[in-house]
Amino acid sequence: MLVRRPLIVANWKMHGDTTQVAAFAAAWQDGPAHVDVVLCPPLAYLGLLATALRERHIQFGVQNIWVAPAGAFTGEHAAEMVRDLGAQFVIVGHSERRGQFDETDALVAAKFQAAMRAGLSPILCVGETASQRQRGMAVRAVLAQLEAVVEEAGMGAFENAVIAYEPVWAIGTGQTATPEQAQEMHAAIRAYFSRRFPRCDLATQVRLLYGGSVNPGNAAALFAEQDVDGGLVGGASLDAAQFSAICFAA
Ligand code: PEP
Repeated sequence: MLVRRPLIVANWKMHGDTTQVAAFAAAWQDGPAHVDVVLCPPLAYLGLLATALRERHIQFGVQNIWVAPAGAFTGEHAAEMVRDLGAQFVIVGHSERRGQFDETDALVAAKFQAAMRAGLSPILCVGETASQRQRGMAVRAVLAQLEAVVEEAGMGAFENAVIAYEPVWAIGTGQTATPEQAQEMHAAIRAYFSRRFPRCDLATQVRLLYGGSVNPGNAAALFAEQDVDGGLVGGASLDAAQFSAICFAA
């Protein structure tokens, strides 16, 4: 039987302060019981937010980790530290990190493996640029990003992983992919997993999120697609009422 629980993840990026954390926690309404909800605030506010929302129907994650478990890496945080703080998820391969911090496929794969080593569930972001889509290369670009991680980490590593399809042209632009575009890419990702690992049910089990300008107005149509299991939400996740509405759309 197909059991993929809907999952909605908030990516606060580098936004927020103590006032906003308190306001979010005060206004937050738990989503429906059948939906998993994960908040990824800046690491600096993780403890504060987790304390303010303890005993609520919510889990926590972070937006980045470093690959080593400990060592002389000034300014970085190990996956093990994040796990030790009680977080369960980490976003890896976000296009802002690939683009602005020069994260290569190899580094993304190493971070994915570091997350698995520490018992965190990686949320692996993949997505094409506008020019790749215009040239008809969207599926090829996304599958190449996936293959780079699969090659390094192997199938077993995807057991607890989540994949977020985030077209780069849709992130923070207000230009959302249509439900049909999201579904087409998600179906292509599932087809890739069934070709790559024909003897296991990864293709049907792995949770695939859509990310890119999701808001309360477009969430229900996106989440209604059969291969879209939820969303990775940036801007609209900073407001508790909006984010809660998105969770109820799942
Ligand atoms: C994101 O940060 O992953 C994202 C999808 O942002 P937004 O929802 O603002 O487009």
